[in-house]
Amino acid sequence: MHYEGILYRPPSEAKSVILQITVGCRHNLCTFCTMYKEKTFRIKSRSEIMAMIKEAQDYNPGAERIFLADGDALAIDTSLLLEILSQLYASFPRLLRVGIYGGPKDILAKTPEDLVLLKAHGLTIVYLGVESGNPEVLKSVCKGVTPEEMISAGQKLKASGLILSCTVIIGLGGKSLSQAHALNTAQVISKIDPQYLGALTLMVDPEAPLAKLIQRGEFQLLDPWESLSELKSMLENLEVSHCVFRSNHASNYLPLRATLPEDRTQLLTTLDRVLKTSALEELRPDYWRGL
Ligand code: SF4
Repeated sequence: MHYEGILYRPPSEAKSVILQITVGCRHNLCTFCTMYKEKTFRIKSRSEIMAMIKEAQDYNPGAERIFLADGDALAIDTSLLLEILSQLYASFPRLLRVGIYGGPKDILAKTPEDLVLLKAHGLTIVYLGVESGNPEVLKSVCKGVTPEEMISAGQKLKASGLILSCTVIIGLGGKSLSQAHALNTAQVISKIDPQYLGALTLMVDPEAPLAKLIQRGEFQLLDPWESLSELKSMLENLEVSHCVFRSNHASNYLPLRATLPEDRTQLLTTLDRVLKTSALEELRPDYWRGL
């Protein structure tokens, strides 16, 4: 299968067949992200997409999971997405789930009926990068939406019956906004109440616009212990009904997995213990961390 540029997918889609139905990210302005900076956003044509599905079917006819990339695949018109989903389920008889990246603006641009139709046609899970719930942080990293818009997008998606997986970025507020970022992010995630929540820890590619602020001393990265303290504050303030939390992304210092709220005490005890020992051997070394 030919892919344009570097391909990204959520850790939980490691076993999925990846179909690159869009190229890049339509927003492409976030100052911490270089994933799609080399790509000009485009939606692949219907014929390109159908040829890709045929190629994937020849290569792996028994696929059970498919992930639709790149960063903004939900931006595709609902009618074409419905056609793609129908073709996928017709082509892969063992297909169980289809996942997709969706930006907040993509979700807000769909009607509730669109989202219900997509679910009825077999779209299963949408990955939404919330990143932060703090208005200042979202603005400073050029995320392009307010916390209120992020909440509306998340709630709208969840109301459709689709599974929602959100990600947040530890350290995105730097040292100066760490506490506000933790608290406001917990508040936004609590209001969205997703089924899955993933935490990443900020790592800045030297080519990212944020790297210039760091060089000028205008943004201070958190150290490992400050990152874990921020994560602890976020988890302490999170009120969710049933959420699988993971920090298994390669950027994190401490891989954790828990079901919230049931495992909250255990999770916080683990974080407390690691913070008290301050033993570097408890953490993933920096050279093993990755984006
Ligand atoms: S973080 Fe997401 S929305 Fe922002 S530029 Fe990167 S892929 Fe696009």
